[in-house]
Amino acid sequence: MSVGALQSTALRGQLYGPGLAPAGVPTTFSASALGLEFNGDNAAVTAPTWHRLAWRHGGFNATQLIVEWTTDAGAYSLAVSDAAAQSVLLAHLAPATQVAAGPSRGTRTASNAVIAVLVVVPLLLIGLLVWQADRLIDWAVAKIPVETEITLGREAFAQQRTRLALEDSHPAAAMVRELGARLGRGSKYPYEFHIARDDTANAFAMPGGFVVIHTGLLARADSAEELAGVMAHEIQHVERRHGLRGLVHAAGWRVALSVILGDTGGSLAASWVENLGALRFSRSQETDADLQGVQALVRADIDPRGMATFFRKMAADGSAMPELLSSHPASEARFAEVEAAMPKGRVFPRLAYDYARLRGTTK
Ligand SMILES: [Zn+2]
Repeated sequence: MSVGALQSTALRGQLYGPGLAPAGVPTTFSASALGLEFNGDNAAVTAPTWHRLAWRHGGFNATQLIVEWTTDAGAYSLAVSDAAAQSVLLAHLAPATQVAAGPSRGTRTASNAVIAVLVVVPLLLIGLLVWQADRLIDWAVAKIPVETEITLGREAFAQQRTRLALEDSHPAAAMVRELGARLGRGSKYPYEFHIARDDTANAFAMPGGFVVIHTGLLARADSAEELAGVMAHEIQHVERRHGLRGLVHAAGWRVALSVILGDTGGSLAASWVENLGALRFSRSQETDADLQGVQALVRADIDPRGMATFFRKMAADGSAMPELLSSHPASEARFAEVEAAMPKGRVFPRLAYDYARLRGTTK
């Protein structure tokens, strides 16, 4: 372009649109008074002038800036994570074209009724879409076959495990696998249970049935029943597809649609893995995993009180913030719900493990 002096340096983002990979393509672009201009492979992609670009904060935790527009070829969007690049874009983008996402901004007093209608009607429509988004995600998740979820989970875990120090010959590995097999009996997911060397008292589960227990959690638990309580909770995140739902939400519609259509390619799994670290469950999902976990423990004839005693211990220790408590700090209400779900008067046999020896010496 001829106004090179007005151009900023190359900025980075992920471009989605017709003819591009479903998970988007990394691109560089420049922003000038004349508009957005893409470099390299995407040089043919055009965008209208700034005031005609819609934008919003999106991605997980709304940390991305997402710019959207439509051309004759179809709908494009550009997701920008880098804060410096975002501020360059925001300097150009018109506040009026921001699409509400999350808490609504204050409404302005319109001086005439026509403007009020022009503003209010689109806002109502956007509100309706946001309200429907939860149902749309449920619909999309329900459309994803379990086999696709397992394939995707396996791809994602294969990429994730390179970052984990797995200790599959840990003294507690057999116990973890046995407890997992008891708790996941009859499931449609082919569970894998792993121990990772990590001092944080944490555990996590990935869609498709990949469960990882940190050595720090083994050290923090004081009985096999407490460990089983945590595992029952994690397994229910898989059974209830909480992680899958979170990934669909974070990865966006184009990715979700391509998964529904059966695309489980490596690049797609990679884009989902990127969102895994930031994945947080909602309060209702945590409660669901707690209560379903108690039921699973009872079915497996394992004393569910281990779950409650472990949660209380973790909550009392501010330094330890496992997945179990980080997104929604344990409250009395949560404990009360878990404890109310315990069967009254039933006696469970103690698990026959020498837990203190098996958990290792990391305490
Ligand atoms: Zn959880």
